[in-house]
Amino acid sequence: MLTPETRGTPSLVNRLLETFSLTSRRLDSLVNACKNPDCQRRSVRQVLTRKLDGIELAGMWFCSLQCYEIGLQRIIAGLLTNRVQIRNARKARVPLGLMLLSRGEVTRDQLSAALELHRSAGIRVGDALLQMKFVKEDQVASALAAQWGYPVFPANTAIHHLPVTLPIYLIELHRIMPLHFTSASRKLLLGFADGPDHGVLSTAQQMLGCAVEPCFVKMSEFHRRLQWLKTQAQSGEAVFDRLCELGEITQVTSSYIRQIGAERATFGICGSHLWVLLLGGKQPMNLLFRFQQA
Ligand SMILES: [Zn+2]
Repeated sequence: MLTPETRGTPSLVNRLLETFSLTSRRLDSLVNACKNPDCQRRSVRQVLTRKLDGIELAGMWFCSLQCYEIGLQRIIAGLLTNRVQIRNARKARVPLGLMLLSRGEVTRDQLSAALELHRSAGIRVGDALLQMKFVKEDQVASALAAQWGYPVFPANTAIHHLPVTLPIYLIELHRIMPLHFTSASRKLLLGFADGPDHGVLSTAQQMLGCAVEPCFVKMSEFHRRLQWLKTQAQSGEAVFDRLCELGEITQVTSSYIRQIGAERATFGICGSHLWVLLLGGKQPMNLLFRFQQA
């Protein structure tokens, strides 16, 4: 392997690089101050001598796992606040049942029966109407599309591998399906089988670092694509599906960061789960923690 010495006299820059072993992490630690306000290692001399165990969390640099654990707790608290705002913004829509009634797709009696099942069985109104065979899948999909102003994705189209996707656990849980990715504009078309969830949409956007455009995908098409996805190799994914305390989440995440040598972590709330994406290590790793009952 070529080293700077075998290629001739090392330049001053090369010597400096060697002296300080200026890896990207070292560079991060030089240009960014640790975001933990109580960090004990914030002076320049300490920055130059400290170990390379820092990490970037949600775009903020933390110099050590100790500082990272403090940062993580703040990040999660911030995410929970945003989640409440998104949830409130989702409410102002005509309910699906009323939409179907106004379109003459169901009768008043059918809707009452479906609402009764919705309340007693805890299932969605659309699912109740389908289960009672009062409507067809196409009618529910087009009513949802009209209700939200999003298109319905055509069924039985070819399935391709996408460079950008979501953890399979979240795909199944939220009945969402990555359908198409445009590399030039970095835009992901995300199909919702149950109607759009804007919390999930904005989290996907932020976590994947691309624009996410919603559409509807019929339940049968969702299941067809899910079967295909399960036959494909998945990126690393670990799910902690019993209720997790903040301390435990922090501990498990720290341990994965060390294990895979991650350099960056991003965080998002998806329903009742915290989604942590670790990058820059041996392979991308998705961690999913249930932190609150749905
Ligand atoms: Zn620090």
